[in-house]
Amino acid sequence: MATHGTANAMPLARRAWNLLHVHAQRAHATARRALDAARATGDARARGWARLALGVHGLYYATAAEAARELRRAERDFQSCGDRAGWILARAAIARSMWRQGQFAQALALVLPLRDEGLRVLRHEQRGVLLNTIAGCYSAYGDSAQAFAYMFEALHDAGPRRGRGFDTVLHCNLSHELMQIGDCEEALRHVERGLERCRGLDNPRLLAVLRINRVVCLTELGRPAQALPDIAALLAVPASADGRGPMAPHHETLAIAALHAGDLALGADLIGRAEAAGEAQLPDERLERATAHALLALARRRPRDALQALRPAQPLVEDDAAEGSSLRVRAQFLDVLALANERAGRTTQALHALRAWQRVHQRQAQMASRARYQAATLQTELLRLQHALDAKDAERRATERAQSALVALNTELQRRIEQVQALQTALRQQATQDALTGLFNRRHLNDTLPTMLALAARDGQPLALAIIDLDHFKAVNDGHGHDAGDRLLAAFGALLALGCRRSDIACRYGGEEFCLLLPRSTADGARRKVQALLRRWRATRLEHGGRWLEGLSFSAGVADTLAGRTTPAALLKAADDALLEAKRSGRNRVRLAVEPGQAGTHAHDPGEARC
Ligand code: GH3
Ligand code: MG
Ligand code: MG
Repeated sequence: MATHGTANAMPLARRAWNLLHVHAQRAHATARRALDAARATGDARARGWARLALGVHGLYYATAAEAARELRRAERDFQSCGDRAGWILARAAIARSMWRQGQFAQALALVLPLRDEGLRVLRHEQRGVLLNTIAGCYSAYGDSAQAFAYMFEALHDAGPRRGRGFDTVLHCNLSHELMQIGDCEEALRHVERGLERCRGLDNPRLLAVLRINRVVCLTELGRPAQALPDIAALLAVPASADGRGPMAPHHETLAIAALHAGDLALGADLIGRAEAAGEAQLPDERLERATAHALLALARRRPRDALQALRPAQPLVEDDAAEGSSLRVRAQFLDVLALANERAGRTTQALHALRAWQRVHQRQAQMASRARYQAATLQTELLRLQHALDAKDAERRATERAQSALVALNTELQRRIEQVQALQTALRQQATQDALTGLFNRRHLNDTLPTMLALAARDGQPLALAIIDLDHFKAVNDGHGHDAGDRLLAAFGALLALGCRRSDIACRYGGEEFCLLLPRSTADGARRKVQALLRRWRATRLEHGGRWLEGLSFSAGVADTLAGRTTPAALLKAADDALLEAKRSGRNRVRLAVEPGQAGTHAHDPGEARC
């Protein structure tokens, strides 16, 4: 898809790589998308990683030759862009494809030189993959001690970071290696653990290999009948990319188990399937196929046929035979060879085969003592890894639980905060607001006035204050009722609020007294403003209970800070004195405070306004 940019190709390829063991099919699909994206943008590095993922997937789910072709392309991509990590991993995977095709020595020769640079260049899980490949090569080459040592190192480097996929692979490989040294009890334990882990993965190939290993373990332990369900399950898995892949299906291994279990029909059927797939290629395959044929012939009481079936593979178990077949398979072959000779009455040859069998066992035992220490350490390490994973799992579950509790708690907390905020707002309003008029109350004025004075002083600006008292208000109460008085107070509050600038502060000072604070205004400016209010108030008519309230007026006193009245008390007193003066001189007017030093009342009052 040409729509993917360079930015997308690389993360996609990485994702594909990380999914390889966990979800084989998704890994494959992701790698394909990554390859398309990388091709569209000519991103060689992303192309290399996508092909590497496809190639490694192919090692499991395609033929080794197909996988090798993709891996060679990846190798070239990495070479061209100088990605050493990718190049090393591609070559390691090519080595795997070689041992899958029986080229054991060549595989080891290819992978070993990658080790030192790999350990420098690769990140943890990639190191694990390289080391595991070296382990696999040694295992295929028949050197279990080295295989164990490298597996141990691989595990160290892979760590829990690789998640469930990789530790399952290691359980599988470990069981395989333990089978080679004849410790099938221990091998079976790892198979079971691997199968348990496999439940969390979508990797049918890994599952199939673990099942085959269980069949081998149970056969070696003399419990072949218990292997029959696994054989049935394995036969039910399709050999397609979404099944076990076209890997060597080990039909001869399964046939040996079936024959040991006494199911001749199944044994014969499995041998037929093995033959249908063509001639056996790998040494182990050839030995097992011959063993299976011989076991079937022996079961049919035809020991000579058995010997004939075994003969072509016999050179593979000679002491000086080239490496490549596993000790377990050799021992199994020699065991049947001894039995066939004995049944055929060839005692000398039977003894010869038994001696060879003994030598293989001795080698297994030697290998085992060297390998056992590493196997034990590896076992401990796997357990540690498993505990770490379990602990991580428990931690994740606990965190999830804690998180949902936290969410509930947060919701509750949020609700409480909103309640408290609403309450606080209400309280604040109650504390500073006058309920009847909606204006500020006296407390707010007392709180604000010092600040307003300080601000005015700092800005070098005047601050004016007016006290307004409604005239003959008691008469309204008395004549029209308290409600009418309230109505009038509210109306006057509205008039004040409307006539004020945003910076002005209008308060109900108490009863029918109001106070106006006018920042940046002189007393004279305030007087003009209050006179305008007075005109509007006089013009106000209010209907109450079918009667009109009219002829309204108020008296007011105005003062400012310019005359040196810079404290709240001084300013309020000056305005209050002026108000008294307004009342005294007939009400319905606005009076300026007397300048300090000018005694008594004004003979001519410029602030007076009457209608
Ligand atoms: P003056 O012109 O001298 O100011 O006369 P006045 O009648 O306005 O003044 P006075 O101080 O004699 O009466 C004020 C009245 O205001 C007395 C009180 O009952 C009334 N009053 C105070 N607060 C309220 C209120 O919230 N609602 C009502 N309806 N009346 C109130
Ligand atoms: Mg009054
Ligand atoms: Mg009054």
